[in-house]
Amino acid sequence: MCGIVGYVGARQATPILVDGLRRLEYRGYDSAGVSVWADGQSRVVRCRGKLAALEDKLQQEPAPGTIGIGHTRWATHGRPSDENAHPHKVGAISVIHNGIIENHLALRQELAAAGATFTSETDTELFAHLIDRAVKAGAADLTTAVRQALGKVRGAYAFVVMNDRDPSTLVAAKNASPMVVGLGDGENYIASDVTAILSET
Ligand code: GLU
Repeated sequence: MCGIVGYVGARQATPILVDGLRRLEYRGYDSAGVSVWADGQSRVVRCRGKLAALEDKLQQEPAPGTIGIGHTRWATHGRPSDENAHPHKVGAISVIHNGIIENHLALRQELAAAGATFTSETDTELFAHLIDRAVKAGAADLTTAVRQALGKVRGAYAFVVMNDRDPSTLVAAKNASPMVVGLGDGENYIASDVTAILSET
């Protein structure tokens, strides 16, 4: 279980996310990534390796915007690779996750039978599919869709979810994994550890 940082406010999200993730670096990780929303859709930039590698990639592929999520991964399901790095995006839904979805095999089979195609080996991507399906099936809002998806997963987890269609809100859920909300002035944060956001809140 590694690092989660989320930001909603008026400032550029990417530097805040990367700075927060850096404060969690001591925990160890194998890959890192961000999803940041601007102009109608979120942009995912992620890679295997250290935050310095992510920063290099962000130089080539900037991710501007004032709402976003960032993650450092310690692989449990699927090897360390660019494809398995978080965030995972399915349709309009971006997801980051610390922890393990214990019933991932059954979920993968169920989603595959329903026609889902997967772009990673992770348990996390399955949760993004479940939310995407709930949204497309008419869930009233992202919170409802996340609740419906949570009804199908078992495990210890912390998730943060962003929807391209509602770029004012991050939805987070946790079970037996740490997560803190930080209230700023006209801006809010979420993180897997208080050290990630203490300087800002
Ligand atoms: N189980 C997820 C994965 O392997 C999350 C691992 C983590 O907590 O960083 O991608």
